[in-house]
Amino acid sequence: MSNQIYKKDVVYLDNAATTRVAKEVEEAMKPYLGEKFGNASTAYGYGEEAREAIEHARRVIAESLDAKPSEIYFTSCGSEADNWAVKGVAEACREKGNHIITSRIEHHAILNSCEYLERLGYEVTYLDVDENGVVQMEELVHAIRPDTTLITIMFGNNEIGTIEPVMQIGRIARERQILFHTDAVQAYAQVPISVRRYPVDLLSASAHKFHGPKGVGFLYVREGVAVPSFIHGGGQEQGKRAGTENVPGIVGMGKAVELAFSDMRMRMRRESMLRNYLMEKALHELSGVRINGHRVNRLPGNVSMSFRGVDGASLLILLEEDGICASGGSACNTGESRISYVIDAIGVPADYAPGTVRMTLSGDTTREDVDRAVASLKSNLERLRD
Ligand SMILES: *Cc1c(COP(=O)(O)O)cnc(C)c1O
Repeated sequence: MSNQIYKKDVVYLDNAATTRVAKEVEEAMKPYLGEKFGNASTAYGYGEEAREAIEHARRVIAESLDAKPSEIYFTSCGSEADNWAVKGVAEACREKGNHIITSRIEHHAILNSCEYLERLGYEVTYLDVDENGVVQMEELVHAIRPDTTLITIMFGNNEIGTIEPVMQIGRIARERQILFHTDAVQAYAQVPISVRRYPVDLLSASAHKFHGPKGVGFLYVREGVAVPSFIHGGGQEQGKRAGTENVPGIVGMGKAVELAFSDMRMRMRRESMLRNYLMEKALHELSGVRINGHRVNRLPGNVSMSFRGVDGASLLILLEEDGICASGGSACNTGESRISYVIDAIGVPADYAPGTVRMTLSGDTTREDVDRAVASLKSNLERLRD
């Protein structure tokens, strides 16, 4: 692999931010950037070719979730799927009520959609989470009102890795005839999700989080759940999401799904073992460290750590000098608070919170990568604490 920016071998531990496009995905996409350039809405051969490729990807994705192809709607990203789910259900159910329940630790695609709806007169309850980042069922039940139309709680958290009790939340929602959306952008293709098993009505995912291309995602909408059209225009996506399809992107996402599901259980096991190895090694070899998020119910590749008495941004710069790409767990702008709202919500102590670093693994991460990361953390923590 050529590496123009970095001089040394890079250990990429920021797979929750984005992943490398798999070689097979790149290859699958190429013809659709070249000779197979057709618009799926045209009647002749090129169009037919594009249509078939799109519908193949839709079938592959539907199968991966135990859904029907007609329940999968392609979008331009995970954020769009989240926006559509929240705003669409809010609008569709306005007659019934205008109350939405979410959590304080959702991705900004959800939080900012909810804030937008509040400006339009909707009411939103933002549930607290416990110290592990888990939404509490008693609080959820307590927040439900006769005019609640939507519960939106993420499947797995992007910063701290906690997997939410989606099964229980879905059951509570269904008993009360409230629609349930889950932002599964971090969890889909990392852990098994079946919409036959889970009482989920809507679900968002994004290709670039599982070795697919950027700029393509999907929203699953259970049959019978009516969401209004999100992009108005032509008749694409059953008339719900207009716009000439991103054929190469959709083909790439389909291929990435095939790859991810062909070895998911093995990859999960291997990645969780490496993740646990990283957490244990950090706790063992580093001082003043806390692991954030739920210890067991967490995404296979996520490790979130907070270090006492250091500035996370400075630590990340030193890590990068050693060729380790990690992140602070959220995009924090200068001038704004350095502490992410997720880290704040789980109550990380004030002397630890600014020193939060997230390392997220992929199927390509090796034990040597983890060893290098911990060695770099060790020497750089000493430097910063001196
Ligand atoms: C990345 C991410 C998104 C946004 O997906 P994009 O495709 O980048 O817009 C939404 N939710 C979660 C949990 C994410 O991790």
